[in-house]
Amino acid sequence: MYVYEYMRILFLDQSGKPGGAELCLIDIAKPYRQNCLVGLFADGSFRDLLEKKQIPVKILTNQAIEVRKESSFKQGLASLNQLLPLIIKVANIARDYDLIYANTQKALVIGAIASFLSRRKLVYHLHDILSPEHFSKTNRTIAVALANRFAKLIIANSQASKNAFIEAGGRGDIVEVIYNGFDSKSYQINQVEVKSLRQELQLEDKFIIGHFSRLSPWKGQHVLIEAIAHSPAEVTAIFVGDALFGEQEYVKQLHEQVSKLKLENRIKFLGFRSDIPQLMSACNLVAHTSTAAEPFGRVIVEAMLCGKPVVAANAGGAIEIVEPGVNGFLVTPNKPQELAQVITTCVKEPSKTSMLAENALCSARSKFDVAIINQQITQALSKI
Ligand code: UDP
Repeated sequence: MYVYEYMRILFLDQSGKPGGAELCLIDIAKPYRQNCLVGLFADGSFRDLLEKKQIPVKILTNQAIEVRKESSFKQGLASLNQLLPLIIKVANIARDYDLIYANTQKALVIGAIASFLSRRKLVYHLHDILSPEHFSKTNRTIAVALANRFAKLIIANSQASKNAFIEAGGRGDIVEVIYNGFDSKSYQINQVEVKSLRQELQLEDKFIIGHFSRLSPWKGQHVLIEAIAHSPAEVTAIFVGDALFGEQEYVKQLHEQVSKLKLENRIKFLGFRSDIPQLMSACNLVAHTSTAAEPFGRVIVEAMLCGKPVVAANAGGAIEIVEPGVNGFLVTPNKPQELAQVITTCVKEPSKTSMLAENALCSARSKFDVAIINQQITQALSKI
């Protein structure tokens, strides 16, 4: 316990918006809040969420960092110039901390060089699958080279992320797999609230499928829309999430797809929401439809903790969470017909699916308990 009191951690994250890696960081930083600082490379609602939990936070730059996931080496080098003032700033701040904890890839780039300059230890929390589907060769090479050279410890959010890191040339000996943790109490929602939310959505008598994710092509919202067209008439879907990283063209395509399939009455886009446990509890089934391997898949665990049946795309971290036929369903990624079959089973055999959901609740509570996960992180940090 006393480790929390003395370990001074400078957490770094590039995003001002709360994606999965950022929501995970809130749970990790909370026990260290007396002595930590979360440095962000952009301002936004993520800062508000940290402040609400009394976690110290500082916006370290307001300038956008122009490296994209698919950047070339030349573009990467050009942006290094732009990064120099930020690196120096981080190195100066880091002198007041014991270690730098980089939570995203750009944070790794800044944190690695700053750790060298300030002689502080570097920890990298790997929330990504470093595969060609997700990152350019240049980005993978830079991330792996910096992590190999500077990190004392890499926390991978799943075995799938660890394997991809090693396949991309990363050192396996410094990687420890630690899953995201969740406070199961936050996912226990009372039935009165659930009923009124279903009324509010005007979907009381429908079979509701929930999709909870930022709107992005690889998250596969289009796959669920296509599957709805092949599902029983009472099936409707709610899409919860926003285009966090500028995928406006995809949003347009999704709306066009809905009108082309004449599904306007069966599909609702709710935008970004903060009441995920309530919305999940209002669903009859939660679908995860990523077309590329998911590094972890927080939404899958969250749905399980709400006691809801889950169908997930059979790749990446999802396979480590869902045991098909025991605590949920797995379907081939990008196969709407197969997904529609599972949906139909769920509509027709509610007793079978409620048994899976009960098992899911038990397995998620024991495997992803935030207190246990935080202990694992503390232990891993105290060893370096
Ligand atoms: N989420 C949210 N509001 C939304 C949509 C998603 O708070 O409108 C949360 C969701 O509950 C989950 C996280 O965003 O905790 C997404 O994490 P996940 O691992 O599923 O995907 P990522 O964003 O990391 O790719």
